[in-house]
Amino acid sequence: MPIATVNPATGETLKTFDALGAEEIERRLALARTAFEQHRTTEFGLRAELMNRAADLLEQDQQDIARTMTTEMGKPIVAARAEAAKCAKAMRWYAGHAEELLADEHPSAADIKDAGASRASVHYRPLGVVLAVMPWNFPLWQVVRFAAPALMAGNVGLLKHASNVPQTALYLEDLFRRAGFPEGCFQTLLVGSGAVESILRDPRVAAATLTGSEPAGRSVAAVAGDEVKKTVLELGGSDPFVVMPSADIGRAARTAVTARVQNNGQSCIAAKRFIVHTDVYDAFCERFAEGMRQLSVGDPMQESTDVGPLASEQGRTDLEELVDDAVRLGATARCGGQRPEKLDRGWYYEPTVLTGITTGMRIHHEEAFGPVATVYLVGDLDEAVSVANDSPFGLSSNVWTRDDGEVRRFVRDLEAGGVFFNGMTASHPALPFGGVKRSGYGRELSGHGIREFCNVTTVWHG
Ligand code: NDP
Repeated sequence: MPIATVNPATGETLKTFDALGAEEIERRLALARTAFEQHRTTEFGLRAELMNRAADLLEQDQQDIARTMTTEMGKPIVAARAEAAKCAKAMRWYAGHAEELLADEHPSAADIKDAGASRASVHYRPLGVVLAVMPWNFPLWQVVRFAAPALMAGNVGLLKHASNVPQTALYLEDLFRRAGFPEGCFQTLLVGSGAVESILRDPRVAAATLTGSEPAGRSVAAVAGDEVKKTVLELGGSDPFVVMPSADIGRAARTAVTARVQNNGQSCIAAKRFIVHTDVYDAFCERFAEGMRQLSVGDPMQESTDVGPLASEQGRTDLEELVDDAVRLGATARCGGQRPEKLDRGWYYEPTVLTGITTGMRIHHEEAFGPVATVYLVGDLDEAVSVANDSPFGLSSNVWTRDDGEVRRFVRDLEAGGVFFNGMTASHPALPFGGVKRSGYGRELSGHGIREFCNVTTVWHG
């Protein structure tokens, strides 16, 4: 894949970049290691000052970086600005909380005595140089939610960003440098995915985090496993959105639209499979399909646009193939199901609602990365849980119910890293984020996220 900015709204190549050569990669690895030796010894207070400055700068740059993101991957400009604002908040959150989240722990006197110690404590020390392989869908947020905790913990970062967002990738390196982080603390490596293996095998790299597709995750985890290096994987999702009879159907249907088409439908935590109880099925489907029909699809630079183009031509082809396969095998498109007629340039696809899904259809098992929803009819709670869990993925889940007994059941039984009731899944710095099954392992954000790349060190005194 060439490293280039190609506008998905027009298909035009705007700028291309050369990949770094072996010598430059070597220079940057050495720089990262040197930077770590210094950065790991700095006080939390100094790190927080730099991180807060990065947040200030990001807020000042909000308009420009939002336009860059929209140009590179097609998200609506309003959402791009919101993404930049969210990143600044997360930076401030970690600047304010890292010291407390990584404070030394002191086991109880009784437990220490049993361990034969006069004193003992647990310390969270940074691991070292962490390689971050990141995707294009939230090109700032995916990186910041790794970088803010990693830098606050005393680690340093090497970013291998997706090849279609090089300008956003370079912006991030520049942002941390302007904020005052010493040279080498956060570097962007403009390299293709083929260069990842040798970088990850380099002894100066301690660990890796990857957000992206399952094949990319499997490949990085295999190399890291071979090298015995820690990884965190945040892969795809096909999140269920369950609607039970006690739900507020109007609110559920409106939220369902947003939850499905956010980021032009290209979000790992977008609700993708809508599992609806038979008592409210018709009412929900009608309102949901109507809401999807009302969306404005078009130029992502326009403030009024709800849904822009898919990020790549291949992404649209993949989505079309999933829909065509389902329709061929008997699914009904309640709305959409094709490219918008009026938009002859760019990689657009109409917001689509499919009903009549069966297990033989590819879309039942695969992630639909675009504005396409599948709706399932279920007869009771047991069937709702069973359909929700019938997926190789287990990232997050949404449930609409006002019944406490049902709430307990879903919390106990849904195979997912999160259950969001009467609302849509969203990430927040204070709450852990990540999945089970093929959605990956490890957690980002919160105290769990910052400790993933720490050496949990036991200190024992006889
Ligand atoms: P990829 O997983 O291919 O890309 C994500 C990142 O991984 C990019 O930086 C990419 O680099 C890199 N990468 C890809 N293959 C390898 C590899 N073998 N070894 C090391 N690094 C690798 O995502 P795509 O853009 O191809 O999207 C395909 C599908 O992935 C989507 O349709 C969606 O299902 C899923 N996806 C999920 C995301 C999520 O948020 N969980 C985000 C993006 C995609 P390069 O760009 O140079 O190839």
